[in-house]
Amino acid sequence: MTQRHHSLRRRTLIKGLTLSAGATMLPPVLSAASTINTRKSKKVLKIAHITDVHIRPELDAPNRFRKCLKDIKKNKVDFFLNGGDTIYAADYDHIDRDRVHEQWAIWKELRSEFSEYEVHSCLGNHDMWWAAPNKQDSMYGKDYAVKQLGIPGRYYSFDKKGWHFIILDSNNDNAGSLDATQRQWLEADFARIAPGSNVLIMSHYPILGANGGKHTDHNYLTNLYYKHKDKKITCLSGHVHLLDRVVYNSVNYFCNGALSGFWWEEGNEHSAGKYWVRETPPGYAVIDLFEDGSVTNTYYSHPY
Ligand SMILES: [Zn+2]
Repeated sequence: MTQRHHSLRRRTLIKGLTLSAGATMLPPVLSAASTINTRKSKKVLKIAHITDVHIRPELDAPNRFRKCLKDIKKNKVDFFLNGGDTIYAADYDHIDRDRVHEQWAIWKELRSEFSEYEVHSCLGNHDMWWAAPNKQDSMYGKDYAVKQLGIPGRYYSFDKKGWHFIILDSNNDNAGSLDATQRQWLEADFARIAPGSNVLIMSHYPILGANGGKHTDHNYLTNLYYKHKDKKITCLSGHVHLLDRVVYNSVNYFCNGALSGFWWEEGNEHSAGKYWVRETPPGYAVIDLFEDGSVTNTYYSHPY
């Protein structure tokens, strides 16, 4: 790629257009970007947002994931956010213990291959095994998935470089939604962070999105964010395997496709390309976070 294309792309990113041809190091066929960065602010973090990895033994998915990982690492990200549906599926009635084991074992092996990075994950609807013989079974439900992902709980928050990160559990009644306990926790978490804070929130289901599948309690959440409109809030999601973005009350909502594309399969009659879900190719986002709370979200498709 020529230098001219490169600089064109930088300008495109800064203007916040949705489509641009070309890339920095990778060969994406599509790159969508958005920014609310209207003035020069210092970039403080660069993160990878992968979602809907749906890792499975079939279709050479583990090796295809390895190729993605190699590309993502070239972006020199500080850490990973993993948006859920890490494994293909544990949630269906016919799934047995061996199948659940098999999928998580692949994830653990792959995870060990980028153990130099922190990965902050959230639960996806396909990550839980509900068909265990009983609720006391050590592999039943959310606790087991939390353990496999190595996260502190089904929802949690942490701070890095002046940014507050909130990881939600969307998998409740009338999914996507928060349960009453989590609402209380979230309200308290918001209340304790300083006015004007920069906040990044990740959920599996989109809180708001252009393509459906959004949180059924989106009115509650948008209202809570409005109460905290002194803060600069950006939300990330997956679940629908589609790339879109919505801005509402100055909050950004980025739905960043799916790393697995069409669950690693070739697609169907609605796929605009091989492995795509409708018009969205398989891919991942690289997100720049700035000191002033602005963000740049760029989606890189991958050909694997
Ligand atoms: Zn999914």
